[in-house]
Amino acid sequence: MYSQMNQLKGIFAVDIGVPVVDMNTILQNVVEQAGKNEEFSHSFFLRVRDMIQAEDADALAKEKVYTKLLRLSAQASHGFVLTNFPNNSGQAEELESFKGGLNAFVHVSLPDDILVDIEENKLSCKDCGRFYYPEEIIDQEQGVHIESFIPEDGNCHDCGSSNISEGSDPISFERELNSYKSNKDELLGFYDHYGLLVDYELKKGFQDFDKLKKKIQYGIKH
Ligand SMILES: [Zn+2]
Repeated sequence: MYSQMNQLKGIFAVDIGVPVVDMNTILQNVVEQAGKNEEFSHSFFLRVRDMIQAEDADALAKEKVYTKLLRLSAQASHGFVLTNFPNNSGQAEELESFKGGLNAFVHVSLPDDILVDIEENKLSCKDCGRFYYPEEIIDQEQGVHIESFIPEDGNCHDCGSSNISEGSDPISFERELNSYKSNKDELLGFYDHYGLLVDYELKKGFQDFDKLKKKIQYGIKH
């Protein structure tokens, strides 16, 4: 799933009963644990760690590291929602060779200025990292109306903590937005060509979720 709204990926996966597999987390685990415990003791992990740290995109692609890591992931053994991958058409091609490829590539989009409003409106739980959005966002011209999303009793939905405060990270937001934009057309073109693209313009935030779900289920069945 390819989108700026990370929260939505988690909700969708829980709702259809499959795990969320985050490629960034998989890579981070290799970097942190390679050679340090039995699960990551094989020399493959040491090599992959060095490639990740050197940001050697060519080596990672040539050795099909991403799909090898997915094969080793217990969570990815059945159906799953994959996030933060693929990021370009080369990676998309590699992924198509993994267990017959994706059932659907879901692209969820929002206008840029709304994304900025959402980012500036972001709080995070300091104990578990879940994001919350205390203000509703309305833009009548663009037909956008996103409800606020914040626990009424002030306690985090996931972990119960009341330690919820400022969660915006402008630097990484801008970096992610730029990388998203530079690869968007290429990736959407790739999946559109294979008839796997589910393109959804979000207007009402989480309220749109049921409509999106139907669209995805329709896309998977046909
Ligand atoms: Zn929490």
